[in-house]
Amino acid sequence: MSTERVKVFIIGSGPAGYTAAIYAARAGLKPVLYQGGQPGGQLTITTDVENFPGYPEGVMGPQLMMDLQKQAERFGADIRYGMVTRVDFSGWPHRLTVDERTEIEAESVIISTGASAKWLGLEDEQRLNGRGVSACAVCDGFFFRGQDVAIVGAGDTAAEEASYLSKLARKVYMIVRRDEMRASKIMQQRVKNAENIEILFNTETEKLIGADGLEKVIVRNNASGEKRELDVTGFFVAIGHQPNTDIFKDFLDRDESGYLKTVPGSSRTNVPGVFATGDAQDKIYRQAVTAAGSGCMGALDAEKFLAEKEMELAGQA
Ligand code: NDP
Repeated sequence: MSTERVKVFIIGSGPAGYTAAIYAARAGLKPVLYQGGQPGGQLTITTDVENFPGYPEGVMGPQLMMDLQKQAERFGADIRYGMVTRVDFSGWPHRLTVDERTEIEAESVIISTGASAKWLGLEDEQRLNGRGVSACAVCDGFFFRGQDVAIVGAGDTAAEEASYLSKLARKVYMIVRRDEMRASKIMQQRVKNAENIEILFNTETEKLIGADGLEKVIVRNNASGEKRELDVTGFFVAIGHQPNTDIFKDFLDRDESGYLKTVPGSSRTNVPGVFATGDAQDKIYRQAVTAAGSGCMGALDAEKFLAEKEMELAGQA
């Protein structure tokens, strides 16, 4: 196995990772960034992004991510395809393994691993994943043109995806577990105004039925106990996300939901030289622009750490 020494090592390629790469590259730190399993991150599976400053007409998510990558590469960031599979933050430099093949010795590490969709945990949910069950309406909605589908969740994501699906599908059932939705008023209104969306409040999913592909979903009203069969071929899960932080659990402090803990007002973790940015450490804002902002913090914190480390090592020499 080959070992490579890197000054700034960035894990993840969402807005946080690429922004960290832009700043670190412009500071002459020759960052190496591994993109992870979903190059470009969550924005690559969305359509219009209308709230990223600087785009008065909006921008498509995948385009925004390609632009961020190009901007980082323009300043010399080394962007690579690959997945960090192991880390060892017990000493310094930090040691990381990529795809079980490449050993990296990193003087500083910026974690921008983001978050992934949560699942309901129903029997048959994973078996039927890709055969009617999906966690991304924007990616898979197209396959259900003219069909009847259901979506679970009541946050902004579920509302946004229900509206998106309503333009493709014949009918959309929105399964909401409480008697109200968490989504913002404007998003709720959009869902309520769509003629082909039926909102099922106080409703939980009990069972998914289908051999090779989804055929039916059984739901239960949790107030009356009444069950109902929905004849749907698509079932979309939009119940939030969990941070991708498991590989760090032996070394870094996390909260009860798995988000990495940072020193307030900084990207510093409990390990010197390891910085956490973006959705991996943010359960409140979770926006592309806040992720980008925290990626910038990560790069500036890493730069400061490296300068201090250099002084410390020079003092010892
Ligand atoms: P949220 O955490 O906001 O919402 C998750 C939803 O899923 C909640 O309604 C929750 O129900 C429901 N839920 C959770 N677990 C289950 C379960 N086991 N069974 C049934 N329902 C369940 O996640 P989102 O992904 O919607 O949003 C994340 C963040 O991103 C938010 O801050 C949101 O505002 C933001 N966002 C903004 C957008 C925009 O501005 N354009 C678009 C998309 C997201 P309950 O309410 O009962 O807890």
